[in-house]
Amino acid sequence: INMATIIDGKNIAKTIRDQIREDIIQFKKKYSGFKPHLSIIQVGSREDSAVYVRQKERACKEAGIEFSLQKKDEFITEQELIKSIRDLNDDLSTHGLLVQLPLPKHINESRVTENIDPKKDVDGFHPNNIGNLSKRNSDTLFLPCTPKGILELLKQIGIEISGKRAVVVGRSDIVGFPVFTLLSRNDATVTLCHSKTRNLPEIIKTADILVVAIGKAEYVKGDWIKPGAIVIDVGTNSIEDSTKKSGIRWVGDVEFSTASKVASHITPVPGGVGPMTVAMLLQNTVESAKRFLKENIERKVSPL
Ligand code: NAP
Repeated sequence: INMATIIDGKNIAKTIRDQIREDIIQFKKKYSGFKPHLSIIQVGSREDSAVYVRQKERACKEAGIEFSLQKKDEFITEQELIKSIRDLNDDLSTHGLLVQLPLPKHINESRVTENIDPKKDVDGFHPNNIGNLSKRNSDTLFLPCTPKGILELLKQIGIEISGKRAVVVGRSDIVGFPVFTLLSRNDATVTLCHSKTRNLPEIIKTADILVVAIGKAEYVKGDWIKPGAIVIDVGTNSIEDSTKKSGIRWVGDVEFSTASKVASHITPVPGGVGPMTVAMLLQNTVESAKRFLKENIERKVSPL
């Protein structure tokens, strides 16, 4: 049996983060005022959110990106939260701004996302950015980080997306749907599946490229997969494991033990898509800082 090549997202992400750090150093030599800065607003005290925010903070600091965090009480009103967002929209030192999701039930996430300046929307969740991604001939300012990371992984393994058959399982705003759009933009023929899809194994069998983002531990089995397919497993599910000190273990949405005997390439969980998401957030922040710098320079030389 040929085992699949494991796509080492952790290592690929590390290389990208090192490149970002080097790029910032070089840019600072030329423009001493260049200081990419990410601001995060975190509401409440969810443990998972705290872990993700700490990961982002550490990654920013390592790369030489300024990082600020505003922690808000979980009973903050929607208006107060939106006021803080608008202040950061107006803050000239901030180039990237995100509100860590999910938010407490009494706050409307769509209204919050809509109030982030699309030019600082490094998560890529603002309707302008999502909308432009869905239009054929317009470019978005920011691609959402997980989908962008998935495309980067496909690029890194050197596969030609154009003309391939792709199947995406899951249609969330943050992963499945934008991955569907991005693969289509790259000229794959894409099928989007969800919880009402019939004959899922049959459809999955057609995929040269399979992306699974459903949040169901080891749901997709190896014998559903076309031999030689490329498998990107986005799922991050904790399951009980009494052999671990923590009592849990992380698994994907794909059953790795069987899928890795059929696929040509597969991402592990953890260490596949997850680390790429953070690397792409850094990339979006630096791109944004460069765009603001360029606009400032143009404004200064313009005769107006
Ligand atoms: P989500 O918002 O929970 O949506 C799940 C999607 O999967 C929905 O579209 C749902 O269909 C579909 N689905 C659920 N059960 C299904 C089934 N049995 N068969 C086919 N489709 C099914 O998902 P998400 O936020 O995209 O997250 C998905 C997973 O990815 C989670 O494990 C999450 O932790 C992980 N994740 C990882 C990263 C990372 O950086 N590594 C980032 C984001 C998310 P309906 O639309 O019909 O309900």
